[in-house]
Amino acid sequence: MMEPVLTIVVPCYNEEEVLPDTIDQLQWLLKDLINEALVSKQSKILLVDDGSKDRTWELIYKEGLRSDYVRGLKLSRNVGHQNALLAGLFAANELSDCVVSIDADLQDDIQVIREFINKFQKGTDIVYGVRKGRDSDTFFKRSTAQGFYKLMKKMGVDLVYNHADFRLMSKRAIEELERFKEVNMFLRGIVPLLGFKSDVVYYNRLERQAGETKYPFKKMLGFAFDGITSFSVSPIRFVLLIGFISFFMSLLFGGYFLTLKFFGHTTMGWTSLITSIWLIGGLQLIAIGLIGEYVGKIYKEAKQRPKYIVDIDSFNLPKPRHHLVNQTKEDEVFNLDFRKVSDTN
Ligand code: UDP
Ligand code: MG
Repeated sequence: MMEPVLTIVVPCYNEEEVLPDTIDQLQWLLKDLINEALVSKQSKILLVDDGSKDRTWELIYKEGLRSDYVRGLKLSRNVGHQNALLAGLFAANELSDCVVSIDADLQDDIQVIREFINKFQKGTDIVYGVRKGRDSDTFFKRSTAQGFYKLMKKMGVDLVYNHADFRLMSKRAIEELERFKEVNMFLRGIVPLLGFKSDVVYYNRLERQAGETKYPFKKMLGFAFDGITSFSVSPIRFVLLIGFISFFMSLLFGGYFLTLKFFGHTTMGWTSLITSIWLIGGLQLIAIGLIGEYVGKIYKEAKQRPKYIVDIDSFNLPKPRHHLVNQTKEDEVFNLDFRKVSDTN
């Protein structure tokens, strides 16, 4: 039996303080996994330098010369966590059966990767690392992050609760991810859209080992706003709703103001003025909301997301994705089908 080739992708932005330790720990883990015959000897660690301004690339490059397990990818400028991660996933996928992504600060428990691999071997395409608690986070980070998950859920975006970008993806899952052509890739929202068999592994999240967070409040807000606007049209719907509400309010008020007028409690001109303010306001909001609906449609079209993703096609042999996993899947699917055919014959 052949072991799967694993690549661990690590986006790094100004991480010179944590990087030496991170590389050491990941290499130890990788060597363990290789010795335990869980992954192939060709497995690698791919460090993506996201346009760092410190010695990050130097560290990566030198380690790459020294070690068989370390590869580096240097981006031409800072493109942000999500894009750096994508660059790493796509580059790694060419030479791997499965890819694990993890942050450079090792806040996520790397030992969990062993469980990721076990699940992958059993035919799971996507394994999400989910943190048990947020004790290690500051109160501020904890409440903003949890508020974010809840808000997203309300707006109809399907996220894995308390999962950051610590996950395993199979080769074919990443290949399908490449078919998502949108420029704003909000990975945590898109990966669940791939479907496929997925599972979660729980772990305790630690504190950042050294260096500072690369997600200050401003970036976090930007990230959340990006997430919402690239997944949800509910802000536009909201405008439409407000429009309808104020339109109906204007009708009610109109009636009310008219009765006032007929019983002589108003000054001249006030009734028509106040009614039309509400009426026009409501109509305008409805109009904006309607235009918004169309803009929303255009926006969905412009993203050109794939309309479906095939899991198994029993008439065409599935794309060889990974020998071990395929074996189980093929056995399941094809044996079943063939048995049926031969039984009836
Ligand atoms: N990162 C990146 N590009 C950026 C910002 C961050 O590649 O522009 C990387 C960073 O090096 C780290 C990961 O993204 O590996 C997550 O960042 P961080 O740990 O600072 O975020 P936090 O855990 O505080 O949310
Ligand atoms: Mg971190």
